[in-house]
Amino acid sequence: ETPLLAADFYGFQSTLTPEEQASLGRIRAFLEGELKPIADEYWDRAESAVHLIPRFAELGVFGAAWPETRQFENSELYRAWVALEIARVDPSSCTLVGVHNGLGMTSIAVGGSEEQKAEWMGPMARGEVIGAFGLTEPGHGSDTARGLETTATRRGDEWVLNGAKRWIGNATFADMVIIWARDTADDQVKGFIVRTPAIGFTATKIERKQSLRGVQNADIVLEDVVVPERDRLQRIDSFRDLAVVLRLTRAGVAWQAIGVAVGAYEAALAYSKERVQFGKPIASYQLTQEKLATALSNITASIAMCVRLAEMEGEGEQHDHHSAMAKAFTTKMMRETVALCREIAGGNGIQLDHGLARFFADAEAVYTFEGTYDMNQLIVGRAITGIAAFR
Ligand code: FAD
Repeated sequence: ETPLLAADFYGFQSTLTPEEQASLGRIRAFLEGELKPIADEYWDRAESAVHLIPRFAELGVFGAAWPETRQFENSELYRAWVALEIARVDPSSCTLVGVHNGLGMTSIAVGGSEEQKAEWMGPMARGEVIGAFGLTEPGHGSDTARGLETTATRRGDEWVLNGAKRWIGNATFADMVIIWARDTADDQVKGFIVRTPAIGFTATKIERKQSLRGVQNADIVLEDVVVPERDRLQRIDSFRDLAVVLRLTRAGVAWQAIGVAVGAYEAALAYSKERVQFGKPIASYQLTQEKLATALSNITASIAMCVRLAEMEGEGEQHDHHSAMAKAFTTKMMRETVALCREIAGGNGIQLDHGLARFFADAEAVYTFEGTYDMNQLIVGRAITGIAAFR
């Protein structure tokens, strides 16, 4: 039997089925045995642990959400815990998986035709084909819905793409990149599967990143990239359709944020029991215990919120503002938590070898991507007031 995560203080994992718990236990053993020992080194070298992609595939992490690719029937909650467990060990690998499995596969599953699903879902679930998702541009992050400048021009049976993308995860080694571009005929945003390498397509790694260094992000340039009509996502007609993908993946990032907080909390707890000052472990001091209690309360409140969010997804009741609230709240809690935990480790908290610094730094990117804290709060604000503050 798989033990519940100690940081799951209210025992939420106990509501998973025995099969789900067993699968989660196998995934945790892999993460702790194979990923944890190398995570700091990959982060330090700013490299992705791509050699572990086949292991993620074997363990059924890719495509677990979809009937055509899942290894066994499972719940939204199970998949959410998988994201948390990966982030708890390595937020960068969680992002690599999230881009491929979340953004990439969800785009095909939600936006693709039956033929497109038949072509891509199996190979992506097996990790034979790796996906990326290109929405953000150098000039447009928060305002992609209205500002997206990359163009798609129809030319007979094909499309010609022109523009630039920024921050695109996995794009340096992905086999396909979903590029979101504005149709020059009707001004609507559409999705295109660009099979890479492609003529006119370049992806350059963004160097000197100081957060999520173990995942590679790219600047992409598209110069007259030709995509056949059969590689346009057939069930996406506008940004509204794309927003369905983002709603689902945003909920996953909320769980990723909890995982980042859990990773930091566990490291801080272990450190506080070993570090002796004034003749006693620092864990014995009230101020340290208060920080640990605050960290675990933040984690517990975040899990409770997201457990209900996962249920709502299963019930078809999850709207944009629900996942926006969860993403904003859990990332805010995460930011406070990793800072408290870093503080517990004193000076060693800023150095990779003590298990804290990576989580502390990685939290910043998780706070910002998939909609910044501000934008997600404004989506909630719109739902509360009926007034959009960001048009
Ligand atoms: P901006 O939009 O320029 O925002 C800057 C600041 O202004 C923020 O604090 C924001 O909240 C605030 N702001 C903006 N507008 C308003 C407003 N109306 N009211 C109040 N405040 C406002 N994108 C992809 O497409 N694919 C990926 O794979 C991908 N991976 C990423 C990985 C990493 C590590 C990072 C850092 C980013 C990634 N992104 C990806 C991009 C990410 O989604 C954007 O960074 C994010 O949407 C914010 O956009 P921006 O960075 O351009 O910030």
